[in-house]
Amino acid sequence: MLVLLLHHLGPPPPGVRQKKLYLTVEHLHAHVRWLQGRGYRFTTLTDALDATDPVACLTFDDGFTDIDVPLAVPATVFVVTSRVGERSVVFEGDQGVAPADLLGWEQLRALSARGWEIGSHAHRHTRKPSFEDLAESAATLERQLGKRPTALAYPYGAYDAETLEAARRAGFRCAATTKSGLASPQTPYQLRRVILSSFGVLPAFERLKLAGVHHGVYPLNPRPL
Ligand SMILES: [Zn+2]
Repeated sequence: MLVLLLHHLGPPPPGVRQKKLYLTVEHLHAHVRWLQGRGYRFTTLTDALDATDPVACLTFDDGFTDIDVPLAVPATVFVVTSRVGERSVVFEGDQGVAPADLLGWEQLRALSARGWEIGSHAHRHTRKPSFEDLAESAATLERQLGKRPTALAYPYGAYDAETLEAARRAGFRCAATTKSGLASPQTPYQLRRVILSSFGVLPAFERLKLAGVHHGVYPLNPRPL
């Protein structure tokens, strides 16, 4: 399964160094159509685990407000449950990023009603979250949205064996990393993703990357999990 990793929708604000966190809505629509034309069906991340056909997932880390745009396909958003609805957030330790607002509970409920999956990005945005942090995040999502979350994305993509076990014990069915490549449902707590951006080396590079994933030649020599 092909899991795409996104953060912001739109052009980067002036002066922002981390331009790879931005994808324009036009480019997103074009990528979705391109993949659909090659036989990919878009699902939420948890639904993808049970799919038997080629599936692709849009996943948004952090839950910024600019991702709330009309989309023709479902998506999964990972929210930092202690920070939902906060304004002008920069997460601890992030460098070269612009402050941005985070989706509130009302907006998340509306996205959920539209078929989006609301997953956890831990309770606090810290590296290798503990079991307690993940359990608190899951309980908060269940309390606010009325359903237990099943998908997690590790903050900063950081995890070790203990984090994987904490995710499983906290009741998550899967967890997304920031390692590049196709995701395997056989290793549901180490799902790889492919970053899409409008501001990488060249916009055309993103399409090449997708074509490479589609044809099984990207990433080159992926390290074993
Ligand atoms: Zn994050």
